[in-house]
Amino acid sequence: MISTLSVLVLEEHPLHRSLAVKMLQSLGVGKVFEACEGREALALLRCKGGVDIAICDLRMHDMVFLREVWHSGLVRAVALSSDIDSGVRNTVAVMVEKLGVSFLGNLGKIFSLDWLREVLSRYDLSAVRGETLPLVTSTEMPPRDEIERALANGEFVAYFQPKVDLQDGRVLGAEVLARWQHPKRGLLGPDSFLPAIEQLGLLDQLFWQLFQQGLELQIQSPGIALAFNVHPSQLNCSRLPDNIWNRLRLYGMPATGITLEVTETGILSASPKVMESLIRLRLMGCILAMDDFGVGYSSLKRLCELPFNQIKLDASFVRGLHRGSRGYAAIGSAVSLAKSLNISLVTEGVETSEQSRHLLDLGCREAQGYLFGRPVSGAALRTAMLSRRLSVR
Ligand code: C2E
Ligand code: CA
Ligand code: CA
Repeated sequence: MISTLSVLVLEEHPLHRSLAVKMLQSLGVGKVFEACEGREALALLRCKGGVDIAICDLRMHDMVFLREVWHSGLVRAVALSSDIDSGVRNTVAVMVEKLGVSFLGNLGKIFSLDWLREVLSRYDLSAVRGETLPLVTSTEMPPRDEIERALANGEFVAYFQPKVDLQDGRVLGAEVLARWQHPKRGLLGPDSFLPAIEQLGLLDQLFWQLFQQGLELQIQSPGIALAFNVHPSQLNCSRLPDNIWNRLRLYGMPATGITLEVTETGILSASPKVMESLIRLRLMGCILAMDDFGVGYSSLKRLCELPFNQIKLDASFVRGLHRGSRGYAAIGSAVSLAKSLNISLVTEGVETSEQSRHLLDLGCREAQGYLFGRPVSGAALRTAMLSRRLSVR
């Protein structure tokens, strides 16, 4: 795999540059290019038609280079070789990813061969990610009649992503994520249809279809706890808790096996009705999770006001996680917060074993992410649990 890679080293210092080039060659990287400043690098990339990875020593003038390669698509992933302040590095990482280029990490100014190999290996992961996730996305909003037909035909399917115990890998449960098995366009992710469903006021219908499929999985895999996503607007209906209660009774399932994940940004203006629904769900025994924690403006205030007993820490905190980074400090404080409130904390978006190790060091116990499993159909989840002999809590 490494022999098929093309890598550009953009480094001003001749000694550091030639060292990096030699190390890449000794690892067997297929094509290695070098440049000492942004403009030269850009001209080289235009001539060669782009590279997989650019290793950049970040300087003021290199910002222009980065912006240009993003616009032109001449680089697929970036790794830094810089000793700049970790706060600035994090912002670069976020900026790079926002523009659709993978950020592989920071090598530092002086780095070992092993560390270079590790950072390069992350490129495989990001490349594979695109191939193995057969989700189609579209900005086109499906019309009402098409969505209604899909609901009537049962085309919306529940996919399940495992939530695991970081210490021993046990599956603690799964999050239910909506997919549309479109007869012509393939498997669609929520970005392609959720906004339309919300606008058309059909979120409840979708919820009940997924809830039903979730209960069926619970019957086949007894003990598996499930987390469903609920849009805050759905909590405005005071019948939701009763309806959930009635369905659970019908199937003889305990409410303690159900988590409802509510996005924190959407409950900024929690009405008394929303609060009532949340209280009733808690009294029934359901777990209430504040989804995407840390992304909104008033996470802490909402956490004090509303009866959540789980925090789902947004995936953005895990990206670029390393000791000393701001994400590391933020996760550490979320762990302490959850401990003092006596509520659970689930970290989302864990993709590498390095992130997993850091999370364990910080005292995180529960996590979700591609490292442990992507969202899959109920049948695939059951097969994976059986074949890997993963035990359910
Ligand atoms: P979410 O609730 O924050 O769900 C997590 C999203 O992150 C999922 O995207 C999941 O596939 C993705 N993910 C999980 N692990 C990783 C990882 O390691 N790396 C990366 N890069 N991504 C990871 P998905 O399935 O596309 O869902 C997007 C959002 O759509 C969800 O975000 C949730 O807010 C919403 N959603 C999904 N299903 C439903 C539903 O049934 N009802 C409602 N109201 N919202 C839903
Ligand atoms: Ca969620
Ligand atoms: Ca989330």
